[in-house]
Formats: sequence, C-alpha cells, structure tokens
Amino acid sequence: MRDSSDTGQKQILAKTIDSIASRRKAPWSMYVVLLLLYTAATFTVHIVSQTQSVIRIADAVIPLPTFAGVFSSLANICIIFLAVYYGTLGFYTAMAIILFQFPLLISRIILHHNVSVLPGLFSNLLTIVAIVVIYLNNMDVQKYQARLRDQAVTDILTGLPNRFACSELVNELIRRNTPFAAVTIDINDFKMINDTMGFDGGNRVLKEIASRWKNIADTGTSGTLDFITRTSGDEFVLVIRNYHTDEEIVSTIRKYETVLEEKLTIDDCDFYVTASFGYAEFPVDAQEKNALFSYTTDAMNEVKRVNSSEHIRRFSAELLKKLNTHEVENMVRTAIENDTIFFNLQPQYDMSHRLRGFEALARMKDADGKMVSPGVFIPAAEKMGLIDKVDGIVFRKSALFFGDLIRKTGADITLSINASVRHLMKNNFIDEIKEILKSSGIPAEQLEIEITESVMIESAEKALSCINEIREMGVKVAIDDFGTGYSSLSYLNSFPANLLKIDKSFIDKMNNSDSSKQYVAAIISIGHIMGFDVISEGVEETEQLDTLRDIGCDYIQGFIWGRPLPQEEAEKVVMEQFG
Ligand code: C2E
Ligand code: MG
Ligand code: MG
Repeated sequence: MRDSSDTGQKQILAKTIDSIASRRKAPWSMYVVLLLLYTAATFTVHIVSQTQSVIRIADAVIPLPTFAGVFSSLANICIIFLAVYYGTLGFYTAMAIILFQFPLLISRIILHHNVSVLPGLFSNLLTIVAIVVIYLNNMDVQKYQARLRDQAVTDILTGLPNRFACSELVNELIRRNTPFAAVTIDINDFKMINDTMGFDGGNRVLKEIASRWKNIADTGTSGTLDFITRTSGDEFVLVIRNYHTDEEIVSTIRKYETVLEEKLTIDDCDFYVTASFGYAEFPVDAQEKNALFSYTTDAMNEVKRVNSSEHIRRFSAELLKKLNTHEVENMVRTAIENDTIFFNLQPQYDMSHRLRGFEALARMKDADGKMVSPGVFIPAAEKMGLIDKVDGIVFRKSALFFGDLIRKTGADITLSINASVRHLMKNNFIDEIKEILKSSGIPAEQLEIEITESVMIESAEKALSCINEIREMGVKVAIDDFGTGYSSLSYLNSFPANLLKIDKSFIDKMNNSDSSKQYVAAIISIGHIMGFDVISEGVEETEQLDTLRDIGCDYIQGFIWGRPLPQEEAEKVVMEQFG
C-alpha cells in the first residue's frame, strides 16, 4: 500500500516539476513525420543518382543527378531535427540511422570503386559532429533546467518541499478527490529563539526540525502517508493521507510533535521547542483549498490563543462561530469608541397610509464598509454588556435629527427608539431621556421607548417603576416583539404601555392558516381591551395588509410601505406628507 502511494506521490511531484519546465516536448507525430521524410529523401537520392535523365528549365539543361545533393541535405536536416527535438531518443535514433549508412557507403567505395559517394560520406561525418554537439548542449540545458525545477519546489534552507510544492500537491489531491488532512504548524516563540541565537542559530533550529520531520515522512514511521513542507518562516504544512479515523490523524501529528519536543542542541545550547498544530480534513471540513487552509490556520491560532498543554486542534464549526464572535465583538468595541454607529429610520403608518412616525434602528459597518446585520452585532453587544452604549448612541443621534425634522416640518409624528433591558435598568436611564428631550427639543409625547417583554421576566418591579416614570414624563412606551417571549396576560394587564408591536413571525404565518389569522385577531382584541394601540411588524404583502385591516389593526410597519431609511430619505418621506 505504501509503495503504490509512494509512487503516486512521486508521480504528482514529477507532474509538478514537469509543469514548471519551460521547454515543451515536440509532438510524437512530428517524430514519425521526420522519419518518413528522411526515408523518402534518402530513397530519392538513390533514384536520382542512378538516372541519366535531365530536366529542362527555359534553355537550361539540368542533369537530374545534380539534385541528389539537395535530397541528401534534406535527409540530414531531418536527422538534425530529431537530435534537436527528441533529446536522448532523438540522439540515438539519429546516430543509428547515420551509422547504418556507413557500411553501405564504404562497401560502394571498396567493392564498386564508386568514389562519387565520398562527399556523402564526409557530409555524414559532419552531421555526426553536429548531432553530438547538439546532444551535449541539450544535456547541459536539461541539467540546468532540472536544477531550476528542483529549486522551484524545494525550500533552500531546509531542503523540504516548499509552499509551491505543497500547493500543487493539494490541488492535485483535490482534483483527484483523494481524502487528506492538512495540518498548519507554527513553531511557538520562534522569535525568542531568533532573538537569543541570532538569525543563523534560528536557521539551524529550523534545519534540525525539518530533518527530524523529514525522517518521519520519508520512513513512514507514522503509519500514514505524509508530506511535510516548509511554507514560510517558522510555518510548516503537513499533508496526511491513508488514514481511516480522526485518531489516526492525531496520532500521526503527535509523532511529529514528539520528535520536535526532544532536546535540540545548537552551539552547546539546549532548546526545547514546541509548536501549535491546527488541522482540517478534505473533503469533510472544506472542499476548496483556500477555505481548507483558512480553517487549519484558524485552528492553529486557537491553539496559540488558548495556550494550554494541548497543542493539537481540529477545526470545527463552533470554532468558526467563536472566531466570528471575536471579530464582531472587536468591531462593536471599535464602533463605540469611534462613535461610528449610526441609525436608519423605518416608517410606521396607520391603515390609511398616514405616517405615524419612525423607529430608529442601529446600523454598523465593518472595516471594509460592508453593513453588519443588527441580528449579529446587537446580540454581541448584549453579550459584552455594551448594548446600553449602542442604545445611547442611536438614541442621541436619532433624537437630534428628529428634533430638527419636526421643527422644520411641524409634523406631528413619533420617534420610537429601542431600549435594551440593560439600558432600562441603568439608574440614570430616566436622566438620559430627560437630557435628550431637552437637547433635541422633541416634545415628550412625540417620543416612544420600545421595550421587549423580557424586562418583565428579569426584573418586573424595577422595570415597572421605570416604565411608570417614563409615562409620567409623557413619553410613550411600546411592547416590542410581542408574542415571542413571556406573553403573560397577567403582566400585560399591569404593563403601562401605549403600543403593542406584534412580532413579524405571527404576521408571516397569518395568511397560511385560518387559526394563525384568528390568533393575530385575538392579540389585537386583547391589546385593545387593555387599552393599547396595536402595530404589526414585518408586513410585506398586500394580502397581509388587507387581513390586518379586516381584523382591526391600528398601524403597520413593514417593507410593503417602507424599509429602514437613511436620514435624507426619511426626511423626504416627511416632506411628502407635511412639507
Ligand atoms: P425590532 O426592534 O423588532 O425592529 C424591527 C426589525 O424588523 C428591523 O430589523 C427591521 O428592519 C425589520 N423589518 C421591519 N419590517 C420588515 C419587513 O417587512 N420584512 C423584514 N424581513 N424585516 C422587517 P433590524 O434593523 O435588522 O433590527 C433587528 C433588531 O435589532 C430589532 O428588532 C431590535 O430588536 C434590534 N435593534 C436594532 N436597533 C437597535 C438599537 O438601537 N438598540 C437595541 N437595543 N436593539 C436594536
Ligand atoms: Mg424595535
Ligand atoms: Mg420588533
């Protein structure tokens, strides 16, 4: 099994090497054509040299035998082309053909005293010299090319295959759909080794590591088929094949780890080196090279980050999620520090399409300027305990804009802002609202705070007293995403809200079944009984709109009449109605 796989590996590398060879071989058809042409030319020489015929061109009379030289040169050119284009085979073919002619020519001189073949004999001798010179020259070029090709796939420092060879091998394995595990290896604290030992010492460490690993890969002591490469600085990639289980992959990596961690002596200094190994499998974890290596690097970085005694880690979907979370968390932190969180305004309408107001929705962009979904960054901000900061920024920025807008247009509309539980529970929440009302100039009754039902679960008493204070100031309160959480009638009864926002999930289902429609109708009725206005979120279709009208909904907010808009566009919407 090893042997056949070894051959496979060699074939792949040979192909790699061939593919970077600059010189292309001439096609075999040309080889055959040259042989046929040579035979035809030689035969013609024989015919024309025997004949007494002449050809007449205008007044000139040319004896046919004088053309023998032309065909003889053509035959020699064919031979020279064979030597030029077909390497060793061409050389031997050309030599065989030409040497085969010698006994014939010499026998003609000796037996038939035909000295007219002497020029042909000398011409053949010169052709032999030309063929030998071409052959020796070809050999030199081939040796030089072979050296260049080897260098292109070899890491000069360690003698291991390099990044290019690794990449070609992986491409080929993927093309053949051969399962393999890729392991990205990074030497831990290599900078420290370089700093203490100097650049030369660092290089010797790398060479020693490479030689230990090469030994395992070459002798097959790991039990799997391994290909170890140095891809850059202190980074190596191991490609493992012929395993059956994940344990076998780990056991192979463990062998490389063990020999690495054995004492390493350079310039009488003893070193104990460790490395971080991150691996992923083709095709299980990724079907594409770039994704595969990004996963192995993620896994390897996770080993470094966790910094435990376990230095081997497999890529997993959870790891990806965790890494993304880290990334999002960093983005949120930076956006708060730089005050780059901004807002969109989504219009809310009554059933006859008159503007009720806008909901301010937080927006954030990543480093490349791409929008990050609130469904991603709001939970991250909540987890980090920074959601009140996000709320605060959206609150302040949207209120200042909205204050200007209603002063300019005199529009009697409402600004709704989302308040997280954490924000609401802050001792200075009420002061913050007062401060913002003052600085933006928004009349209290034109501001609305959206709170989700979860506040009632987390701290009903404190939430209730806070909501009461908000109401006392004249600010409105909405219960957001109603139906997705606790939804207890008993708390609803004591919740001093103005508006009930039915969650999109109910609106989505409404037209699929009669019972869902009845359910939404029941929520609207209960809301009305409790003294709330009711708004439906996420209305997208006319059918939903018609049903909501039929069952007595008061307001709607949804893509059907308006998506979340940037400030300028929200201003246009207001101007259209109130301008
Ligand atoms: P939400 O408060 O329920 O806001 C309504 C969400 O529904 C918005 O999503 C809005 O774009 C989306 N939406 C409205 N109409 C439609 C529709 O017809 N079809 C569809 N598919 N979606 C519709 P967005 O902006 O992605 O916000 C998601 C959630 O993030 C919000 O849900 C809210 O819970 C939270 N959020 C947004 N901004 C803030 C904020 O400043 N502070 C806090 N604490 N949470 C916020
Ligand atoms: Mg909301
Ligand atoms: Mg909502």
